[in-house]
This record gives sequence, structure tokens and C-alpha cells, in this order.
Amino acid sequence: MDSAPPFDTAPLPAGAAFVDAFVIDVNGIPRGKRLAANAWAGAVRHGVAFSASALVLDARGVSQGPLGIGGADGNPDGTAMPVPGQLHPVPWSAQPTAQCLLSMRGQDGAPLWYDPREVLRQVVERCRADGLHPVLSCELEFYLVGADADGRPAPWRDAQAGLVRPAHGHLGLQYLEDHGRFLNALHAALCVQAMPADGMVAEYGPGQFEMTLSHGPDPVLAADRAVLQRRATQGVAASLGLRASFMAKPFARHAGSGLHVHVSLVDEAGANRFGAPGGEALLHAAVAGMQALHAESMALFAPSFSAYRRYRAGEFASLSSAWGHDNRSVAFRVPRGPPAARRIEHRVAAADASPHLVLAAVLAAVHHGVTQQLAPSPPAQGDADAQADPMLPRDVFAALRALEQSTILRRYLPDDFAAMFCALKRAEAADLLGEVQPIEHDFYL
Ligand code: GLU
Ligand code: MG
Repeated sequence: MDSAPPFDTAPLPAGAAFVDAFVIDVNGIPRGKRLAANAWAGAVRHGVAFSASALVLDARGVSQGPLGIGGADGNPDGTAMPVPGQLHPVPWSAQPTAQCLLSMRGQDGAPLWYDPREVLRQVVERCRADGLHPVLSCELEFYLVGADADGRPAPWRDAQAGLVRPAHGHLGLQYLEDHGRFLNALHAALCVQAMPADGMVAEYGPGQFEMTLSHGPDPVLAADRAVLQRRATQGVAASLGLRASFMAKPFARHAGSGLHVHVSLVDEAGANRFGAPGGEALLHAAVAGMQALHAESMALFAPSFSAYRRYRAGEFASLSSAWGHDNRSVAFRVPRGPPAARRIEHRVAAADASPHLVLAAVLAAVHHGVTQQLAPSPPAQGDADAQADPMLPRDVFAALRALEQSTILRRYLPDDFAAMFCALKRAEAADLLGEVQPIEHDFYL
């Protein structure tokens, strides 16, 4: 690409020796290159070349060649161009390093249909064309992971942090204080990267936390930030000798980690339409859209084999499509609050899902519900786990089938996207299931 790209050539942060330049794949994982600082000017002008199939690797980074991408096509390079406003320092790196988010282009200079940022951008465009202006934020949970005597990942024990207090406890403030070195460094890193966090809490599991970013009117940016937040969390943890994980359900006996999406619709002036007179009907239609697309979208909300273990009674990861006011046991919660803050919390997705694909599915649901003027079921009262929906996919293969056979969601995705994603995730899950797990010997040997 010879013409200069529309990129504000912000100078590299002072002293940066390297730039980690990366795209975001369909797993929500950054993939790219570490460039020496002297290569940056060229990257801004001409882009960074690497295989376009980096966008469709499996969760391990293994090429599965879905629909021939990265295989039968000869695995061609794409040209990844810097995304304006996304050049930031990497404060956790051992050497002075910057990072820049890139957007992958094909040989004709156009975005690639299987780029998850592009998938989301198209859904947002469709919403805006119909006068729907979403405001969103992603809420990510994660674990600090410890190790057992054999060095295998194990629930975090306070002793490993050299702490005196044994208890953690949901919403425990002392627990935040005890982990302050890590949490404060993470908060500072997010600020430096223009992602100021609103706050943080100790979650239900030992070593489980949540740090929330503020709302914004640009869904692609919200998804980008969720990915960058995961990268910062893992980078800061590693720099302190810790390990952070966003795995949906790392430990059977402790709560899973969710990616909750808070969404509202605003008018041209930025006022919340859900909180305006008549806004209740709009909110109901959006909830109804979420219910209508729930099963079809599960493969995007929970794309891994293990993610389905997270949906368990009593752990606030709903087994139903219920919605309700101020009720954490439902899939779609309307939090308590003043009209200006009226929103829906979509609680289905796993913390390790692709934020771009999750937001694409959530916004497709809002668009569908509102444009079709759907009505939701009556709001749930009490514990919605008691109303578990047997029609929801309960494993990744059922979810992939539901995506493949979807009648609504598919109309919001690029033509081949569902087929590509299903091929990729089936191959990934088959590789996992092809391995004999130690526990099987206990049961069957
Ligand atoms: N950990 C729960 C989940 O997996 C959510 C708990 C909460 O409401 O914060 O979604
Ligand atoms: Mg939470």
C-alpha cells in the first residue's frame, strides 16, 4: 500500500525501543510482531505485513485452516495498518516498549470479512442506519492463578501472596488492599493506555477480581479495550511474578469468570432512551431480542469446550434466558439506578470470549428486538436458575450447530462467517477431546 494511511503519526512514547504491533483474532487474542523503534515510521506508512490467517487461529494459536484460510489459499500476508489513537506505552514491559493496535487489510487494501473488528463494525453500522445508537461497556472477571505442589494451575491461596489474612470473601476490601501492589499497577497501566477504570472488586472466587472500565458510544472501541485490558492484566501480573487468567471456568469448585456487557441506547443528544418517557417499551424490545438470539449466539458467547462448565446453579452465570430487574440469577439483568443510567446487563458471555463477536451478537439482538418490536417473557422473580432452559445449548458442539442453523444472527454476520467459525471451533474442540485426560483413568481405566 503506497498511499499514506489516515493515521495521526503520534510520536512513539519517549525512549521506546520496541513497538508491539498486533491485530485481534477471533478469540480476542492479540497477534502480531515486535518491531524495533526504527521500523515504526515505515509501519505507519506502509503497514505491517504478516499472515492474514493470524485472525483465524485457534485459542492456542494453532492454524486449523478454516474454509481454507491459512491453508489452501497459500497463507498470504495481509497488510496491518495502525488504528488511530491506539498507540500507547507498555508500562509493564521489562524494556521501554510501546504497543499499537492494527487493523488487517487484504491485498486490495479493504478490511477482511473474517476480521472480528469488521464483523462488529458492520453490525454497528446497521444499528446506526436504523437510528439505534448504543452505549456500551464490558465488565471482565479474572483469576490470579496459583500452583499446586506439582506446579499445576490451582486456585490462588493467600499464602502465595505472603499474606497474613487467610480469607478472601466477596467484595472484601481488605482483600483488595492485600493485592494492592498488583491492582494499583494494573490501574496505573490502564490509565497510561487511556483506559481509566471506574473501580474494582474482589469477586466470589479466591484470587478472582473484576476491574470495570467506563461506558462509551463506540462499540468497536469498547471491544478493543476489553482485549487490551486482558493483555494489560496478564502483562502486569506477569511482571510481578503472578499469573492472571480469563479462562471461563478454571476451577470446578469456584465461580467462573464472565464478560458482562452493559448496554443502553441514546438519542442524538446522548440522552439515555431507556430512561426517557416510553423508554420502558424500547428496553423490553431490546431484552426480547436478546432472548430471541440467545441460543443462536451461544457459540460466540462461550466458544470453548470448557466454557459450558461456567453455567452452574448458584454461581450467577444463568442457565436460562430469563430477564429481570435487579436480579443476578438471570441472563439479562436491568440494574437498579436512576433513569439516566437505565441499561441492560447482558451476563451470558465468558471472560475469554472474543469481545468483538460478543458485542456483535448483543447489538444484533438489540437491533432485531427493537426493529421487530418483540416482547420479552414476564420478568423473573427470585432465583432464575430454577427455570433452566433445556433448549439452550449446553456444550460447544450444540452451540456451534445452533449458530450454523441460525436464522436471525446469520443475517447480521458476513456470509461465510458462521461456517468459518464453526469449522475453526469444531477443530479446536476435537483436538482437546482427542487427548486422554488424567481424570478419565479414575473413571474408566
Ligand atoms: N462470576 C459470575 C459469572 O461468571 C458473575 C458474578 C457477578 O455477578 O459478578 O458471570
Ligand atoms: Mg462480577
